[in-house]
Amino acid sequence: MSLDDLPLREELRGKVPYGAPQAPLPIALNVNENTHPVPEEVADDILDSIALALREVNRYPDREFVALRESFADYLGHGVTADQVWAANGSNEVLQHVLQAFAGPGRTAFGFEPTYSMYPLLARGTGATWIGGSREPDFTVTPDDAASQVADAAPDVVFLCAPNNPTGTPMRLDVIEAVYDATDGIVVVDEAYQEFAPHEERSALTLLPDRPRLVVSRTMSKAFAFAGARVGYLAADAALVDALRLVRLPYHLSALTQAAALAALRHAPVMLRMVDEIVSQRDRMSATLEALGYRAYESWSNFVLFGGVDDPAATWQGLYDQGVLIRDIGIPGCLRVTAGTEEETTAFLEALASIDSPA
Ligand code: PMP
Repeated sequence: MSLDDLPLREELRGKVPYGAPQAPLPIALNVNENTHPVPEEVADDILDSIALALREVNRYPDREFVALRESFADYLGHGVTADQVWAANGSNEVLQHVLQAFAGPGRTAFGFEPTYSMYPLLARGTGATWIGGSREPDFTVTPDDAASQVADAAPDVVFLCAPNNPTGTPMRLDVIEAVYDATDGIVVVDEAYQEFAPHEERSALTLLPDRPRLVVSRTMSKAFAFAGARVGYLAADAALVDALRLVRLPYHLSALTQAAALAALRHAPVMLRMVDEIVSQRDRMSATLEALGYRAYESWSNFVLFGGVDDPAATWQGLYDQGVLIRDIGIPGCLRVTAGTEEETTAFLEALASIDSPA
């Protein structure tokens, strides 16, 4: 029996699942995790909270996760209220809920490629069709071009990844405003990496007032060092959030997840304290890559896309053989690497320098 013999949905035939390699290498810089563990004192408090929740785990959890929504609203600021917040098991599930409510069969979702590889997979999973737009050669998008591409495609859902994965490219607010005005659909600004952007830069949260079709999604997986806990969230108009209740599974956020996330949010400043360190490693990575003769693309995230790689598959393998796992995301001449701890970043840079360099 193989997949081909099964009565699989037609649109899923021949497709491959999300598959970033999970190899047990000493230096894992391939999926943009926060490579710093949760600080000890916070881990203890999270454990206590989970232990308490466990005592009532015979009961279903709060289906509306009210306390957690309030806590996210406090963290986000910008006047966001609890009824404007939604959360799920990772921002992947948050985005899936948006697509289940607003895309689906006969509808379309759009993004400027290259962009986060899960958008097309999530869209297809709901039966929607994916439309890939284009970027400038340096991976930026201009307001005029963005608006005209979106107006032409007339999608039901637009994804704006800000900053963009896998390129790290910032997205200015004027692009978001232009796209919003060019469509009647839902505009999702995916701010998974927002905390790594320069502190003085404005978040798309500032655009939420008077934009009822705008969604700003976030995750605890990156800056909060919480990828294994699976917690993502979004802010949007309360009516839009209400629509997501139509598609979520009842009790989708377990009592243990809610307890863990609430405890982590109580310690937000400590959880986030590695962000500046990661940003400095990212900048060191970019500077050293340039010195080695590669092109490091501007990044406002916790990773760097670098070009000028003659044979990305060979360089990826050369690093792998030295115990360093990075990502070949299929952009010609490019590889992507996550900023690690100082030691991990050094290990990557030394391994790369030992392989080859374009300079
Ligand atoms: N959005 C972007 C742009 C991402 O890069 C990722 C993870 N790599 C996600 C969303 C999903 O993250 P999670 O489900 O862990 O919140």
